[in-house]
Amino acid sequence: MVQPYKHEPFTDFSVESNKESYLQGLNKVEGYLGKDYDLIIGGERISTDDKIVSVNPADKEEVIGRVSKADRELAEKAMQAADEAFKTWKKTKPEVRADVLFRAAAIIRRRKDEFSALLTKEAGKPWNEADADTAEAIDFLEFYARQMLKLKDGIPVQSRPGEYNRFNYIPLGIGIIISPWNFPFAIMAGTAVAAIVTGNTVLLKPASTTPVVAAKFVEVMEEAGLPNGVLNYVPGNGAEVGDYLVDHPRTRFISFTGSRDVGVRIYERASKVNEGQIWLKRVIAEMGGKDTIVVDKEADLELAAQSIVKSAFGFSGQKCSACSRAVIVEDVYDQVLQRAIELTKDLTIGNPVDPSNFMGPVIDNNAFKKIMEYIEIGKEEGRLAAGGEGDNSKGFFVQPTIIADVDPKSRVMQEEIFGPVVAFAKAKDFDHAIEIANNTEYGLTGAVITNNRTNMEKAREEFHVGNLYFNRGCTGAIVGYQPFGGFNMSGTDSKAGGPDYLALHMQGKTTSETY
Ligand code: NAP
Repeated sequence: MVQPYKHEPFTDFSVESNKESYLQGLNKVEGYLGKDYDLIIGGERISTDDKIVSVNPADKEEVIGRVSKADRELAEKAMQAADEAFKTWKKTKPEVRADVLFRAAAIIRRRKDEFSALLTKEAGKPWNEADADTAEAIDFLEFYARQMLKLKDGIPVQSRPGEYNRFNYIPLGIGIIISPWNFPFAIMAGTAVAAIVTGNTVLLKPASTTPVVAAKFVEVMEEAGLPNGVLNYVPGNGAEVGDYLVDHPRTRFISFTGSRDVGVRIYERASKVNEGQIWLKRVIAEMGGKDTIVVDKEADLELAAQSIVKSAFGFSGQKCSACSRAVIVEDVYDQVLQRAIELTKDLTIGNPVDPSNFMGPVIDNNAFKKIMEYIEIGKEEGRLAAGGEGDNSKGFFVQPTIIADVDPKSRVMQEEIFGPVVAFAKAKDFDHAIEIANNTEYGLTGAVITNNRTNMEKAREEFHVGNLYFNRGCTGAIVGYQPFGGFNMSGTDSKAGGPDYLALHMQGKTTSETY
């Protein structure tokens, strides 16, 4: 009997032995820095001359790994491998598919600190953020395996006398998994295994800034007994190999997590029926956010400031759920802003291998430049109240930044910056605050800090986001507890880690027998 699902606990690094274990993980990772990683197609290792060089964003001279790069020809080869493997994998019992995930979760749990340390190095994640990413990857494996066991016999439907009706789920076919760098382990692994456990075969194209952790994950899946060709590892340039995979007539579905613009592009291209294609492609897209914390006048103001600062600057604000807008009722605006400035000025920033640093770098020089440009825009649109400086001499560091007194329609209140920048806007009253919170094209997460039950209920109904939190920050959804995904331009309304997620990767088949 499978144990009931429980989320993987976060590591307490104030415990000396846990700290020691993380340092050993770092040591292990240091031992394999700079190595080469091959493509994995149908189980075959393929090395290319052209490489993606993954570097440490906190120390750009440090090479994490050199990863072979798929071109169209290799992408085609991977398509064929996935097509071939689908013939048998789709018939493999759901229990067997689930067992691969359970075993992979156990392997990763044993190597938890090594994986987290790799995330510290490759993505610039502070210890606690890296640990949460690894824990979430384990959660996805454990949760989706159990979900598959629940769905394996289909869903009961009615039958009339003399007939027997059944409703079962069958896999779709080949899935293209395109993942982002900001949860380079959890989202990459979660989206891949949801497709795999439901009987599909996949091509995994990880983000080009974080391909090494994906290579390590593919090795774990092999060790856990996944047959060759079910999970093909095809890193490559998104614009180059991405379009080819999305357009391919054998592609049955695309599971994408990333920016709004790339998501829209994929959605549009996937809608075209190409020659030889005999289905309409399905697209699961998880896109950007412009997430707001609303503070009511009847509220715990210390909790409000703490929640804003933690949600805005955790992992340098590079979460789709990060708080990038604080909308505060005018009666308490000055107090909350003042306290948030104090808390922000106390934050430490530096190389995340040192656990005393609250915040590490941003992912690369493009991100650095984009964020610094938005800070300049923010200075024009509002008042720079904290931070504002950046330094990309050794790594890509940006100070946690508060732009105060902005207009709700200003660019820093509307556009996803994806860095440690939060804009503060004043609302006349609670209704006005919700109106401002809803005035973006996104609808991912939000939080409301209030002690007023009527206002809480109003927000529950009217604050149009996929994940709404009360009296806490707006980041940190847990698999199986807070299914995650947004409305409007935040995606296709799918909920990762939720009870209906796996069904998106399957199609329902009805059979009816007359006796
Ligand atoms: P991105 O630039 O859109 O890239 C995401 C993935 O798409 C990468 O693997 C990228 O490959 C690939 N790609 C780029 N162009 C492509 C194309 N033309 N066709 C197919 N694939 C293509 O996003 P990111 O910077 O990695 O991630 C940050 C974004 O993700 C933010 O907007 C954030 O809000 C969003 N996000 C959303 C969620 C959610 O659950 N809603 C979760 C996490 C992140 P390359 O790396 O090779 O360019």
